Amino acid sequence: MDSGSCGDQELEDKQRTGQPLRVNGPIIVGAGPSGLAVSACLSELGVPSLVLERSHCIASLWQDKAYDRLKLHLPKQFCELPLLPFPQHFPKYPTKDQFISYLESYASHFDIKPFFHQTVQRAEFDESCGLWRVRTREGLECLSRWLVVATGENAEPATPDVAGLERFQGRRLHTSGYKSASEFRGQRVLVVGCGNSGMEVSLDLCRHNATPHMVVRNTVHVLPREMLGFSTFGVAMVLLKWLPLRLVDKILLLIANITLGNTDQLGLRRPKTGPLELKTATGKTPVLDVGTLSQIKSGKIKVVAGVKEITKNGAKFLDGQEEEFDSIIFATGYKSNVTSWLKGVDFFTEEGMPKTPFPNGWRGDKGLYTVGFTRRGILGTGCDAIKIARDIADQQPRSSSFSRIELQLCVPNNRFCI
Ligand SMILES: Cc1cc2nc3c(=O)[nH]c(=O)nc-3n(C[C@H](O)[C@H](O)[C@H](O)COP(=O)(O)OP(=O)(O)OC[C@H]3O[C@@H](n4cnc5c(N)ncnc54)[C@H](O)[C@@H]3O)c2cc1C
Repeated sequence: MDSGSCGDQELEDKQRTGQPLRVNGPIIVGAGPSGLAVSACLSELGVPSLVLERSHCIASLWQDKAYDRLKLHLPKQFCELPLLPFPQHFPKYPTKDQFISYLESYASHFDIKPFFHQTVQRAEFDESCGLWRVRTREGLECLSRWLVVATGENAEPATPDVAGLERFQGRRLHTSGYKSASEFRGQRVLVVGCGNSGMEVSLDLCRHNATPHMVVRNTVHVLPREMLGFSTFGVAMVLLKWLPLRLVDKILLLIANITLGNTDQLGLRRPKTGPLELKTATGKTPVLDVGTLSQIKSGKIKVVAGVKEITKNGAKFLDGQEEEFDSIIFATGYKSNVTSWLKGVDFFTEEGMPKTPFPNGWRGDKGLYTVGFTRRGILGTGCDAIKIARDIADQQPRSSSFSRIELQLCVPNNRFCI
């Protein structure tokens, strides 16, 4: 087996004959940024790995499920994977395509060749042989001392149960199936959800002469993406080095109120808890405004209260209003799928997130690891990946041929990554 991956032929042979494959390194489930980062860090330490991916490509969330206008929400220096920076010519906020091209180069730089079209259906620790037994829907069975869960916080689209949805005669879709507002030109569109995706999709619709109504059911913190020419996220990270979290929250809100005005008046009520404190406690990410607020102010995007029920041609809202719509877009986020395939472990909550909070949720028992479940984006991924690689490399026998290169990695203070 290569340092980065197994030979395809060997895998295909095992799949065809139904014989289990003993992997000489960890099995990594998922070839998104997290799976790639762990494989790269392991490779740097001379440890081979096998990456199993259900899709046809790496980073399928970005390649197949992201809308065209998506850019990284955070400046590039906070979204790099370990060991390989973004190309210098990339802009401050790389586009989706630039991010994908970075990930493609990352995979080829570390010679990571995931085995595609392999949906892990079941993984469990087999006490009889002391190994993780991983089975895919396509008939592959693998065994390893280590299992790295890298299927992400966003494995499956989450759509709420809304009364009457089945009656709706227009088009309905989740943002994972949304590419561009050009398909909705001239339409009246209900956007359910007001996180970063809901806000950006509403803005996109607005710019394509559609009429978006954005449902805002809960409180939300909207912050400017930049403050005085610096990224809000960067400012927060610097301030957190010197000041307590609550004081930083106060400063961020003061600047947000000066630059954006009182968002409560626009129907975007702020939570009582500050943005960073809320993020730390619940994982709820503040929205970084990229122009949506000014469209709300101008009335081009209408903010509506929670949906009471969907009708044949539109929706009734909690405040008694009723509107007609051509399409409904659910910007209601994603959920983890770990509990559907990982069996016999008490490590994850029902929602498929590690029970132990960050920064200690990366390692379970018996060689189980998780990467990318920190609610801290790519920064959290980098942090996990380095720890996992070091931990696994340290378990290699002294006589092994694995090299002992020290990972020279600078992990930024990411306690409060957005
Ligand atoms: C719209 C959007 C924008 C974001 N922007 C940023 C940003 O600017 N900065 C930032 O730091 N973070 C951002 N994030 C958060 C996070 O960094 C990304 O979601 C990132 O892609 C997470 O990487 P991951 O590898 O953990 O998960 P994913 O990218 O979801 O990758 C998981 C992989 O596992 C595969 N998989 C799932 N189940 C199975 C299975 N059973 N068997 C085999 N394979 C499986 C999937 O197909 C997928 O390829 C954003 C998230 C979203 C949704």
